[in-house]
This record gives sequence, structure tokens and C-alpha cells, in this order.
Amino acid sequence: MVIAAHPDDIEFGCAGTCAKWARAGTRIVYVLVTSGDIGSRTPDYTRETLAALREEEQRTAAAICGVHEVVFLRYPDGEVTPSLALRKDLIRLIRAYRPEVVIAMDPRRVLVGDDYINHPDHRAVGIATLDAIAPSAAMPLLYPELGEPHQVREVWLQWAEDANCWVDISDTLEIKLQALLAHKSQVDAATAERVRLWAYEAGRRLCPAEAFRVIRLAQVPHDGDLRNEAATLATQA
Ligand SMILES: [Zn+2]
Repeated sequence: MVIAAHPDDIEFGCAGTCAKWARAGTRIVYVLVTSGDIGSRTPDYTRETLAALREEEQRTAAAICGVHEVVFLRYPDGEVTPSLALRKDLIRLIRAYRPEVVIAMDPRRVLVGDDYINHPDHRAVGIATLDAIAPSAAMPLLYPELGEPHQVREVWLQWAEDANCWVDISDTLEIKLQALLAHKSQVDAATAERVRLWAYEAGRRLCPAEAFRVIRLAQVPHDGDLRNEAATLATQA
């Protein structure tokens, strides 16, 4: 499951990895918290017509990467906060789809380099995602009406500064760029070329890559396992 704030965030961030996983037979669902309905500076659209267009662009971009499930939560673009309402919407989806891995936006990023302030929706969606995963979605007594508890095994933060995992996207870079260009209202050819360059920079110029901070969440062990582990440690001591 990939949880993002706006249509095109996934294509900028992790679509090469998603295309690679989809090729390997992984079932993937994209969750878009907003439909990007303020994402234009031209007078050509209303919020409604822009949202409809951007949802269509997102579905096309997903399909290019082999992803056929896209959920839109339709929160208002530019106004997302890490509210309890958003956390509960994400818990419901995590419990329904039961993903092993969630790719999330990194809520820690505020300043990016010397020329970019990270969008507040990105940070809000990132923190709501982490809060939904740990521990809420896994706790049976919390919101039982939202579904059976589910423990996500790994969280992959995209656009993280302290990456600890790099995915070689040599085989899917062109697919990623094609998916990015499906966002016709947002992305032109020059932007796609810049993203190609970023991919090589992320891969230390060895290969095009996408970089992530991966967190492997500990599975809650049974009492018996803990007793065995304590016994082993006592023996070793
Ligand atoms: Zn965005």
C-alpha cells in the first residue's frame, strides 16, 4: 500500500519501485488523501473539474505501473492535517487491505535543500500514516468497528534524507517517467528529465534508483517466545 497526499507524489517518489514489484506479481493499492484540487495556477479549472482530471491522470499513471487499485479519500487539497478522522480512515484501509509493506511520505522533511519547503499536506499525510500503522491498526481494542487488527511489517519512507535502502530501478525507470508524464496537468518533459537525473543521483550514479528509509516493525512475540528468549540469554550469560 502506498499512501500519498496528491496525485503525482507517488510518481515522483516511488513509482519505479512499485512498477518493479507489480512486475514480480505483488498486489499494490495506491491511497490518495486528496485529489489535488488546488494544483493549478491557470484559470482553466474549478476545484471540481481539476479533481476529476487529476484522478483520471492518477488512474492512468497507476495502470502504466501495473497498479489497478486506487483509492481516493478526497480530503481538500492544501488543508490536510494529521487529524483523528484521517488516522481512522487510514486504519480502516490498512485493516481492509492488510498490506505487508506501506510506503509513506516522510513527515520529518520540512526544508529540502536550499530551495524547497516541503508541502504541509505531505507532512500531515506522513504523520497520519505512521500513527495509523503503529500501533493503532494492530490494536484489537481500538476502533473494532474499523475492521480486524492488522500489523504492518515494514514502513518505507519515500524522499527520506537518511535512506537505508536503495531500489535499482534500471528496468522500470522509463515506466516511472511515462507514469509521471501521465500527470499532464502537472508535469512537462523537462520535469521528467529532471526526475531521471534525480534517479541517477539517488543511485550514486551507479544506476537509477529510488531511496527509502525502511523501518521493520518488530512483531509482537508470544509470552512463550519471550520466556524462551530470556532463558537463552540467561544460558549465554
Ligand atoms: Zn504533493
